[in-house]
Amino acid sequence: MKSLGSIRRSFAPWNDPSAKPYISFENVTKVFGDFTAVDNLSLAIYEKEFFALLGGSGSGKSTLLRMLAGFDNPTSGRIMLDGQDLRGIPPYRRPLNMMFQSYALFPHMTVEANVGFGLKQEGMPKADIDARVAEMLKLVKLEQFAKRKPHQLSGGQRQRVALARSVAKRPKVLLLDEPLGALDKKLREETQFELMDLQQSLGLTFVVVTHDQEEAMTMADRIAILDKGQLMQVATPAEIYEAPASRFVANFVGNVNMFEGTVASRDAGIARVTGASGAEIVVDNAGDAAAGNAIAFAVRPEKIKVSSKRPEGAVNAMEGEVYDLAYLGDMTVYRVRLADGQVIQASALNSSRASDDPLTWHDRAWISFQPDAGIVLTR
Ligand code: ADP
Ligand code: MG
Repeated sequence: MKSLGSIRRSFAPWNDPSAKPYISFENVTKVFGDFTAVDNLSLAIYEKEFFALLGGSGSGKSTLLRMLAGFDNPTSGRIMLDGQDLRGIPPYRRPLNMMFQSYALFPHMTVEANVGFGLKQEGMPKADIDARVAEMLKLVKLEQFAKRKPHQLSGGQRQRVALARSVAKRPKVLLLDEPLGALDKKLREETQFELMDLQQSLGLTFVVVTHDQEEAMTMADRIAILDKGQLMQVATPAEIYEAPASRFVANFVGNVNMFEGTVASRDAGIARVTGASGAEIVVDNAGDAAAGNAIAFAVRPEKIKVSSKRPEGAVNAMEGEVYDLAYLGDMTVYRVRLADGQVIQASALNSSRASDDPLTWHDRAWISFQPDAGIVLTR
């Protein structure tokens, strides 16, 4: 599998003030009865972007996608695509296609008939259909399966037929609602890379709905995190992970330790934070947190060191007890219970065969971290 990292690194139109969004949600609200499913949401998506809508069940992801596709209208606000207000434009007139979670293939039709179905409906000449279908099957590596019926395929192959079908008409935008939901974990991971390849080679704009944060982190150029119909943050996977805007986002993506406390004093970017237990930590980059503010210092497990003794010169160190331990081969995950009861998770790479500082259940242990190991959250 080739890495897309080097190709994509230079792709960041959202940082270019002169770049125009391709799709924009402008103050979009969707109300069902007295329930607000999407709440005054504004969001811009750029051409050729692989964009993920990420959120828990019921957060409004599918509703957003359905409004973009034209199956539903916003209660207020508007959705623009390539400079055009989409209101009133029926789904089939929009330059996009939607692949649903249950991507029902026609069971009595062959793979090639399934892929060519929409083209035939459009009245495309047969020779052109054949050429396009062959191209699409090559793209999803199913050339040898053209004559099979869906029940003669594996789950992953069926999923690829559905993909080929949904891009056969060459839409500008492909909307995918939980596209990998029906696949098992290993197949899902492989298919993530296939989706990225497909999006790259066709030069399409993808908007993918998922509740799986790893999936969003793997595939997307940018991720929008939704909660209760509201946009919590939109940023690249790395920014979401390294610089979450709130406790909600930090908790939603990956594991994180929250050191809750009150800013006792501030000197330039450096703040001293007093926790509920009275322990003090020193943090860098305190942002706009002022003395007296309640903040959380969010630190990822891999940024916390565990040791049997207090590390010399450590600024932030706390003593506790090893409460749980998981050896995962490439790394070990420690849970250390501090004096105030908080359990801290720390992970250490097992780069040498034998640890020089072995720790086991119920040992006294120190956790320590640098002042710049985490991020100060005020929300
Ligand atoms: P998600 O895709 O994030 O799981 P949805 O967008 O499907 O969430 O739904 C968001 C909320 O709106 C849910 O609480 C859901 O029950 C509600 N909802 C969605 N569609 C309708 C509808 N047609 N009528 C009433 N409520 C709806
Ligand atoms: Mg949904």
